[in-house]
Amino acid sequence: MKTTVELSKVCCLCFGAKRALKNAIKAKDEHNNVVLYKQLLHNKETIKNLEGLGIVTKQNLFDLTSDDYVIIRAHGEPKSTYAYLNEHNIKYLDCTCPNVLSINKLVESKQKDGYKIIIIGKYGYKTGKIHPEVYGTSGWCVSPILIEDESEIHNIDLGFNKYFLVVQTTFSRSKALKIIEKIKDIMHKSNKLFDYKDTMCNAQAIIHQNSIELAKKVDKMIIVGGKNSSNTIELYNSVSNFAPTYFAEDIDDIKHLISTKKLLEGDCIGLSGGASTQIEQLKAIKSYILSKL
Ligand code: SF4
Repeated sequence: MKTTVELSKVCCLCFGAKRALKNAIKAKDEHNNVVLYKQLLHNKETIKNLEGLGIVTKQNLFDLTSDDYVIIRAHGEPKSTYAYLNEHNIKYLDCTCPNVLSINKLVESKQKDGYKIIIIGKYGYKTGKIHPEVYGTSGWCVSPILIEDESEIHNIDLGFNKYFLVVQTTFSRSKALKIIEKIKDIMHKSNKLFDYKDTMCNAQAIIHQNSIELAKKVDKMIIVGGKNSSNTIELYNSVSNFAPTYFAEDIDDIKHLISTKKLLEGDCIGLSGGASTQIEQLKAIKSYILSKL
């Protein structure tokens, strides 16, 4: 039987990631010393391509200088980063996704209205690694309450009168909705004013739905993206429930899947990528698989 490889109808770079990438490349044509402040997207291939264009990445705020033209990535940054750049006359282009920007402005204004902010997101309660978007949003309010897991909700400090909750845009929707219901209940029983905004991103939900549809009709799925990309890991977890699924960061991982016979001649393979994966990478992987199997 002939091997087939089908790409998910909707996958790869979301609107916010595409916009950040396009602006970074455009900035290179118009400015000298274009510097990415932290990894633009959690994707090795994309970063390699940007480096090939001469765009360097600096991880440390204090390494940025007034000669740099700084790109702020789609995940956003705390308010203090903007203050630092302005104070030091460092020019920058803010490529924060507009969805994330509006969450940051929202928590800032809700806090001014007297609400204690709760953020559901990956703040690293087990891994110790905070997701960049949660780090950024946390920096637009004072000491927000961070919740990543249902088990943590009983530790919420109930010493405030009113609470406002937002969710990391790429957080698992099913997990977040469960946590929100439980928090609502606690707040109600404690006579607290509680309000929230569903800030989870539809771009994610659409990629998940389409990838799951594909998983249901193929033998095996491959999810392509950075192993440090939160949204790609979430995609892998959802799709794994519907077909045997493998995670690949690059062609080397595909070579490994072939050499270890995880992928076989005659397989019907589905391919999808997270919101930080470029479609070109999926197309290259498709061609590679078809040339080998
Ligand atoms: S996943 Fe949604 S919120 Fe996050 S960068 Fe992409 S478009 Fe923006």
